[in-house]
Amino acid sequence: MSTQKGNIGVTTENIFPVIKKFLYSDHEIFLRELVSNAVDATQKLKTLSSMGDFNGELGDLTVHVSLGKNTITVSDRGLGLTAEEIDKYINQIAFSGANDFLEKYKNDANAIIGHFGLGFYSAFMVAKKVEIVTKSYKEDAQAVKWTCDGSPEFTLENVEKADRGTDIILYIDDESKEFLEEARISSLLKKYCSFLPVPVAFGKKKEWKDGKQVDTDEDNVINDTCPLWTRKPSELKDEDYKKFYAQLYPMSDEPLFWIHLNVDYPFHLTGILYFPKVKSNIELNRNKIQLYCNQVYVTDSVEGIVPDFLTLLHGVIDSPDIPLNVSRSYLQSDSNVKKISTHITKKVSDRLQSIFKNDRKQFEEKWNDLKIFINYGMLTQEEFYDRAKDFALFMDTEGKYYTFDEYKTLIKDNQTDKDNTLVYLYTNHKDEQYSYIESAKNKGYNVLLMDGQLDVAMVSMLEQKFEKSHFTRVDSDIIDKLIVKEDQPAETLTADKQEALSVMFKSRLPQLDKAEFNVVTQAMGENAYPVMITQSEYMRRMKEMANIQAGMNFYGEMPDMFNLILNSDHALVKGILEDEEKACDADVAPINTEMERVNQRQNELKKSHEGKKDEEIPTAEKDEINELDKKRTDLKAQKEAVYTKFAAQNQIVRQLIDLALLQNGMLKGEALNNFVKRSIDLMK
Ligand code: ADP
Repeated sequence: MSTQKGNIGVTTENIFPVIKKFLYSDHEIFLRELVSNAVDATQKLKTLSSMGDFNGELGDLTVHVSLGKNTITVSDRGLGLTAEEIDKYINQIAFSGANDFLEKYKNDANAIIGHFGLGFYSAFMVAKKVEIVTKSYKEDAQAVKWTCDGSPEFTLENVEKADRGTDIILYIDDESKEFLEEARISSLLKKYCSFLPVPVAFGKKKEWKDGKQVDTDEDNVINDTCPLWTRKPSELKDEDYKKFYAQLYPMSDEPLFWIHLNVDYPFHLTGILYFPKVKSNIELNRNKIQLYCNQVYVTDSVEGIVPDFLTLLHGVIDSPDIPLNVSRSYLQSDSNVKKISTHITKKVSDRLQSIFKNDRKQFEEKWNDLKIFINYGMLTQEEFYDRAKDFALFMDTEGKYYTFDEYKTLIKDNQTDKDNTLVYLYTNHKDEQYSYIESAKNKGYNVLLMDGQLDVAMVSMLEQKFEKSHFTRVDSDIIDKLIVKEDQPAETLTADKQEALSVMFKSRLPQLDKAEFNVVTQAMGENAYPVMITQSEYMRRMKEMANIQAGMNFYGEMPDMFNLILNSDHALVKGILEDEEKACDADVAPINTEMERVNQRQNELKKSHEGKKDEEIPTAEKDEINELDKKRTDLKAQKEAVYTKFAAQNQIVRQLIDLALLQNGMLKGEALNNFVKRSIDLMK
């Protein structure tokens, strides 16, 4: 054959400028394309040989990647190509509607390359000239050399080549010099080719000699041709899985457990998913699941392929059936991909279920690390919730674990309120809410520890899932009202005394940033604390949700509303009232008498006006009613002034408030300092 010239069969004027111009983002994938072509050609030859269609020696099949001064060469000892095959597979590129497609996917090199079968042509992203020197495995094949300088013109000529196989030689262009650096190629091979099924060598292994690194005779093979996920689970030990994990994520702790995926039907999928031990959120994002297609690395963004909550797992997934070269939005609608996602979810829940069943102790020990994945899955995927509800755990403040059903049985008798609602008590901070937890325990209640990142959302969800159930944080009310069993004992104090107490305490409350107090009295029994602070479950939860959910800012900006509850049964509170009576009665009595007169007169007037039309009431009487209103407001203020004055001199009122604040971690700065001083004074 004399040297041939021809045009590459592209209908578009010139494919190469397009490749160069549009595929700017992912130039590095040329190496993946060329090395995997070499691997494919090698695999095919092995197949032919095993079927008896090729009887020659296979010999060393290592694929070599080598760097010259201006060149990168990828050589294999695979099938090779005849001149006809070059014409068919390289020259005739099927190309239709090219312009539209390129415009649409110009930022997505994978999509273009996949669509056009342009794997080989991606070489032109980095090379100004490409040569293929190849000799087919077929008997008496003539070696040929194809050359193309990036225009649609190529030349094809006969050459001498001793060995079967193909050398692809790239003459790297000026803008792509970075790819001539050993370190760059080395890291690209590591990224894309670490697990290819045929040995790939890059240069020679090095050793230290006389203080410097020198090449040895041994090929520097960069890949593991038989990665763990391609092997039979029955042949593997725990150690193997741990070692492989360390290979994938060298800086991470040992994984909690793993799932070896192996599916043949209705799609092919293999892989290993690891539940990592998570130390921080940063780590969650750093290590990702890697997606492979026949052991060729494709990407580590698996969104759309595995369910959201499982993107937090680590490991590898390998499937030739995931359409890799299409856009993400297409992926989500692909029915194969949906099946894969459902399958993976099922596998993960089956595995968790079986660990739970077979080794509950281990499951409990690892629960704190697993919890975030399981909760996330339950919150975001209905199917997963339905599976996980049987093995998801609650932990109580004693560190005991229960399934949802077990816990329900535990609290059913003692924590059902008068409306037949089951009340789940929880704390999100064992130390801060210590006293509330203690009083709940004294009542025989159980308290759950719900201090996880997703527990606010879990509480809301579980309340909807569980029938006739309610979650209440232990500090959201006084113990008798947390679970209302029967009608509460009525407050025994007169309205007057209630008012006196509440005015006194209100007047001594310190100003706290973004917090407001509602002061009430309540007979809680003489052994309960004299003063308690609670925060309504509803308001607090609204604020918590506002923090994790957009569009609820309204709640987020509201002050925290607390209840300051005065225990009218407690000796100290009673003592304050007695002292108040002694000190204030002389002042309060005449005000009360006057108040009574005002009320009486006003009632008289109102009674005489009953049934009359507005115009029938004398103006003088209307004025008098208004006057009496003012008078009453005035008297009330006078009375409050008396209580306030008393409270200002009474050390106990402020001391009790401070103790309650202290118990809730709300006493700080100057107020805390004053408290300490006052406490010392009181001891003198
Ligand atoms: P694809 O690999 O997707 O078919 P490519 O453009 O990468 O598309 O390659 C086109 C064809 O060229 C391949 O299908 C194969 O027949 C042939 N080819 C490419 N590289 C080699 C090689 N190293 N050895 C033998 N044949 C090759």
